[in-house]
Amino acid sequence: MKLIDSHSHLTYEGLIDNLDEILKQCADVGVSDCIAIGTDSDENNKVVELVEKYEHIYGAVGIHPHNASTYKPEDIERLADFAKYKKIVAIGEIGLDFYYNFSHQAEQEQLFVKSLQTAADCKLPAIIHSRNAFERTVEILNDFGDALPKIVFHCFSGDNKQAEILLEKGFYLSFTGVITFKNAEALRQAAKIVPLNRMLIETDCPYLSPEPMRKQKINTPALLIYTAKKIAEIKNMPLEEFAEEITKTTRSVFSI
Ligand SMILES: [Zn+2]
Ligand SMILES: [Zn+2]
Repeated sequence: MKLIDSHSHLTYEGLIDNLDEILKQCADVGVSDCIAIGTDSDENNKVVELVEKYEHIYGAVGIHPHNASTYKPEDIERLADFAKYKKIVAIGEIGLDFYYNFSHQAEQEQLFVKSLQTAADCKLPAIIHSRNAFERTVEILNDFGDALPKIVFHCFSGDNKQAEILLEKGFYLSFTGVITFKNAEALRQAAKIVPLNRMLIETDCPYLSPEPMRKQKINTPALLIYTAKKIAEIKNMPLEEFAEEITKTTRSVFSI
């Protein structure tokens, strides 16, 4: 079995300092590859270092909406330079976070638009972070029309209605370990209607450890297996078959 963790913060403390061991654990359970996600210029630099060092790590570079009030114009320009690396396979994570509002909403929107333009120019998929901002996120994506490459909604946590809207637009939905949580019934219902050729899975580690490992403080890509098992169960199909389909989708989205 070969699963791909489509969203992991491998450059974060607790993961980067233990990466060889973590990747060994991944191989043991059938998580073959990871996509490391950048959130600012420093992290993006580290992502590039990781993809150069590790065969089975790919990368995405982006500026997280949390950093919309503090980033420098050259940070955006650098995204296009990073994107020239063959193993940088997406722009992300980028988007809107109106839950924490660590940055002003207007600044988040400006950064989001600039980042999407970079994805369009570089012809790379965009990995979208959208929290408490579903409608505005979709509006901004609509403004781009056909100019955008593939769009992945990371950590999708919505309901059927939101899933339908995204599917209709041709977007991809990525599910985290949240789907294993007891109170996530609406999300499990949404997963039912997302076809496997439009679905990805991710850990978003070090956050969001899945059940039954929810107490594990630092989530790792190896725990992706619990999310895979849960969705295979929801889809009423054997895990191996689910893994094969979902990995095919992930490889096609990121051309890896
Ligand atoms: Zn995110
Ligand atoms: Zn993330």
